[in-house]
Amino acid sequence: MSPKMLSVEGREYITPNMIRLTLGGEGSHHFSQESIGQYVKFLFTANGSTDISAIPEGQRPMMRTFTVSGYQAESGTITIDIAKHELADLNGEITPDIGGYASRWALSTQVGDSISLVGPRPIQAMPVEAERFLLVADMTAQTALQAKLVLLPDSASGYVVLDVPTEADVQPLELPDGMKLVVNISSESSLSDCVKALALDSNDFAVWCGCEFSEMRAVRSYITSKKGVDRKMCYFSSYWKHGVTEDGHKVLKREDNAALEQSK
Ligand SMILES: Cc1cc2nc3c(=O)[nH]c(=O)nc-3n(C[C@H](O)[C@H](O)[C@H](O)COP(=O)(O)OP(=O)(O)OC[C@H]3O[C@@H](n4cnc5c(N)ncnc54)[C@H](O)[C@@H]3O)c2cc1C
Repeated sequence: MSPKMLSVEGREYITPNMIRLTLGGEGSHHFSQESIGQYVKFLFTANGSTDISAIPEGQRPMMRTFTVSGYQAESGTITIDIAKHELADLNGEITPDIGGYASRWALSTQVGDSISLVGPRPIQAMPVEAERFLLVADMTAQTALQAKLVLLPDSASGYVVLDVPTEADVQPLELPDGMKLVVNISSESSLSDCVKALALDSNDFAVWCGCEFSEMRAVRSYITSKKGVDRKMCYFSSYWKHGVTEDGHKVLKREDNAALEQSK
């Protein structure tokens, strides 16, 4: 799919650490209600510009992955919610090794700016043929979590564990009556420790987990090895990794998936 150029039509903090961008223009015409929960990749030059026409022939743009949080049919716009992270040094040099392309852009972009993207593309489906569920997410997967929650049967019971920097970063979530929300404050305990502290009294549940790489691995190991939950009922995905840019994370993710396949 060739890149589409969208324009920034709005930028606001929806919680203390989440920036919502509204994007529209001709490049957004191929989005629809179905795009919500799917992912797009923002494209940048190696020095952080969004003018990808400057990229020499044969060279690939820097890509950063985000989830579509909303689609507004009347205006034909989409929204993307970007978790603010401190590594976006607004004044320092930007290079492929340091990264911070997307977060820095989100912090500084203004209405009228342009961004190129590819997508949307769907993420893997989560197993919904279950009665009990465990859904785990951090700030970067909060949008994807919201899209998964609406797919749960009304009869669903279990836990949603959400890792946030502050209570005020929890967005409104529509949970079936039987699902309990557990909020983990990142500075107080790790997401994986929070999951380990849950009263999971059987291994008969479906799991969806999207978060930081090491936390995802810790949750995955606990759920599949310690609790013995059927791997076919689980979906684990890392959304980013501490100390590594998205490009490095992609390599580690591939290696992790290959090792997991071998261990089956
Ligand atoms: C399918 C999918 C969907 C995603 N959807 C969203 C989304 O909707 N919203 C969202 O905010 N993120 C989302 N992410 C995560 C996002 O792609 C990464 O956080 C990405 O690395 C951010 O790019 P960057 O250019 O800001 O930083 P990079 O250049 O990738 O990394 C620079 C430095 O920042 C650190 N870093 C990156 N992200 C974070 C973070 N969140 N917190 C703290 N440090 C960080 C890295 O460890 C690295 O040291 C998604 C990821 C995937 C795989």
